[in-house]
Amino acid sequence: MKRPTVLVLGAGYGGLSTVVNLQKLVGTDEADIILINKNDYHYESTWLHEASAGTLSPDQVRYDIKDVINKGKVQFVKATVEGIDVNSKKVATSAGEYTYDYLVIGLGFEGETFGITGLDKYALSIANVNAARQIRDHIEYQFATWSTEETRDDARLTIVVGGAGFSGIEFLGELGNRIPELCAEYDVPKEKVRVVCVEAAPMVLPGFDPELVEYAVRQLEAKGIEFSIGTPVVEATPEGVKIKKGEEEFEFIKAGTVVWAAGVRGNRLIETSGIENMRARVKVEKDMRAPGFPDVFIVGDCALMINEAINRPYPPTAQIAMQQAVTVAQNIVALMKGENTKEFVPELKGTVCSLGEHDAIGDVMGRKLTGTKASIMKKVIDNRALYMIGGVPLMIKKGKFKL
Ligand code: FAD
Repeated sequence: MKRPTVLVLGAGYGGLSTVVNLQKLVGTDEADIILINKNDYHYESTWLHEASAGTLSPDQVRYDIKDVINKGKVQFVKATVEGIDVNSKKVATSAGEYTYDYLVIGLGFEGETFGITGLDKYALSIANVNAARQIRDHIEYQFATWSTEETRDDARLTIVVGGAGFSGIEFLGELGNRIPELCAEYDVPKEKVRVVCVEAAPMVLPGFDPELVEYAVRQLEAKGIEFSIGTPVVEATPEGVKIKKGEEEFEFIKAGTVVWAAGVRGNRLIETSGIENMRARVKVEKDMRAPGFPDVFIVGDCALMINEAINRPYPPTAQIAMQQAVTVAQNIVALMKGENTKEFVPELKGTVCSLGEHDAIGDVMGRKLTGTKASIMKKVIDNRALYMIGGVPLMIKKGKFKL
């Protein structure tokens, strides 16, 4: 009998964890497992704010996929997925066409600009390792240029961060530490630099405990970060952003750098795949399969699951993506054996939001944490993610041990 082909698209937290779990559960001759990813490395998306601010090297954020897969069981293909057609069971890639018996879509997130004019063109986005490197270099270029200009344009030194959600706040925390270093390096007076966080919603970090949010804002303001809350960005131009401050009141913030961190959606390839979706996210069945396609699983940020306790979707997180991957791998093996699949039940352990290398806020197993304790917890979480995929060797190679 022909061995089933399991095709996994994307080597992010969801896709790579699915493969790592599958290779433990499946014998060498039991399935052809093929993993397709754009790069030959995996990157820790949850660390991209550090690489973007320049507080962590982009190389530290990524590792080779071949180091964590069992080459006897998994074929890795470095290619870009160009199209998915679940009706004909075909996946088009830059390395040719693939077909499958079981498909796992783990192609991750894309920035959501909500149709705001100019954002696509003039704002940078913390999307992947190369984008992070571009943000770091762009900010540094602005500092370097300011220091060589005859007529100095101080707006070069203004950084607007769109979004006071999780990634926006984590990026601001890193900037708070990085700006003094850049000022020293390029002889820029600190008071010339402006970092402004612009948020459309009336609050910072929605969903977080208000006491912890207050702590976060206080700490970031102490580092010179300004907040403009309840003031949506209505337009981005090459010179900066226009924000709405009242019914008929607008303000233009001239800025050399605009980073958009105000929302994510699923990968656009989902929209043309034949699977029903909402902003490229698929409302999955309880066992993580796509509705109407029993051989297709969706994992990570492309999957949408409702938290029935509050009737709202679970936020797209690495924590959930990695937990889903365990169930997806087990369910594929169950289908291969003709057994029933099982339901995915998220086990939420809490959330820690970093405010720079030595500071954070966290709500972990019902305990509120701030400062060093929260920051240590964040490093434990980061190291655990490495351990779960690559064991002790990967954790030692890439882990964060500086307290
Ligand atoms: P990803 O990790 O995005 O992986 C997708 C993979 O697919 C990538 O390898 C990509 O290269 C590949 N890919 C994409 N398109 C193609 C294509 N066309 N062809 C081939 N390959 C492709 N979550 C937390 O739980 N805790 C945190 O503290 C946290 N902090 C965050 C901080 C920041 C700055 C950001 C941006 C996100 C953060 N998140 C956090 C969210 C978390 O990173 C995502 O939920 C998680 O990465 C989703 O995993 P995924 O596997 O769905 O996608």
